[in-house]
Amino acid sequence: MSKAYNPYEDMLEVLEKAAKMLGLDEKDYEALKYPERELKVAIPVEMDDGSIRVFQGYRVQHSSSRGPCKGGIRYHQDVDIDEVKALAAWMSFKCAVVNIPYGGGKGAVKVNPKELSKNELKNLTRRYTAMILPLIGPETDIPAPDVNTNAEIMGWIMDTYSMFKGYTVPGVVTGKPVEIGGSLGRKEATGRGVMFMTREILHRLGMPIIGAEVAVQGMGNVGGTAARLLHNEGCKIVAVSDVSGGVYRRSGLDVNEILSFLSSDEGKLLKDYNAPGIVHITNEELLTTECDVLIPAALENQITEALAPRIKASVIVEGANGPTTVEADKILERNRKVVVPDILANAGGVVVSYFEWVQNIQSLMWDEEEVNRTLEKIMIRAFNEVWEKKNEKGTTMRMGAYMVAIDRIVKAKQIRGIFP
Ligand code: GLU
Repeated sequence: MSKAYNPYEDMLEVLEKAAKMLGLDEKDYEALKYPERELKVAIPVEMDDGSIRVFQGYRVQHSSSRGPCKGGIRYHQDVDIDEVKALAAWMSFKCAVVNIPYGGGKGAVKVNPKELSKNELKNLTRRYTAMILPLIGPETDIPAPDVNTNAEIMGWIMDTYSMFKGYTVPGVVTGKPVEIGGSLGRKEATGRGVMFMTREILHRLGMPIIGAEVAVQGMGNVGGTAARLLHNEGCKIVAVSDVSGGVYRRSGLDVNEILSFLSSDEGKLLKDYNAPGIVHITNEELLTTECDVLIPAALENQITEALAPRIKASVIVEGANGPTTVEADKILERNRKVVVPDILANAGGVVVSYFEWVQNIQSLMWDEEEVNRTLEKIMIRAFNEVWEKKNEKGTTMRMGAYMVAIDRIVKAKQIRGIFP
């Protein structure tokens, strides 16, 4: 019997292993096992029918050693504190691996936003922002979109914070609408980064990108953009899925047609999509599809110990945070699968968040070409550093990425010392 999944314990196990491989003393990384701060809030919302519902919310700051805490806010009915703590720690490692001057944080509200009206969602967001206000700010902790949150919600956060301050503070949040200080290219940034990382790994492995068969789990912002951009690079997208299940076509799917179908109406799902030669599959069938590259871009805990032995892709590029459990990862390593780990593969989003924050602080506006070019440079630099570390220590890319990240955070901590 495998033990119940706990993302925080998985995070600790990987941290421990990488720190040992780096030859660190326990005292060097002891503090990284715990978040610096955790805030839990109860958010009352007046619903449209006049009733009151109280939602559970969190903001966790894992580390501020390398700069302000940075990380998204997710709205999901299943979130709990251990998930938010793990996600916050993964943000610290992610920002360190791409070497941007941030620590890590994460926020969440336990809610299924699809059950709320627009007005209820806005009230929930504004009240949540007011309740985490003591923690956030452009110099302390900067939220961004994550699962089920978007630019519009970030706009409400920016406005609420600014109303309390008495002046407009664009840099308190990233992933905002472009009209109020958002960055060009931010929306596509995570998916674009996944595309760059897929391109780099295929190149390293001597596998041609043209015609490479790709399966993508999740057709949200990350999976949808990655599928579209990889299709443009010449990959054959053979399977995609969303919460309702997936679609498969051996000769390749028409990604643009699928994306316009999904965006044609609020709540459109793949189970209702049809085209000649399409086979409807489950999410489990998608993950075990015959293909070259598998991109899990949905939630944590998808590639489990039970599923990992059946994965046929030779390369896995983690678009989601924590899609592979620790036990599953050991099986993938044994089966010689190459995994580009989440903290590297999906870092494109936070990298362009960093550009957005820099633009806000300087009151500058970059054009999209500059954003995409600088993103590519940072992502490729990080990929190469991880690849070198992996080769130097004869280990996996995940361990390589964690070693690069932990080394940077520990060094920052040592240089600063412990107060008082
Ligand atoms: N939520 C995204 C992530 O997990 C983006 C975070 C950010 O831009 O701060 O990386």
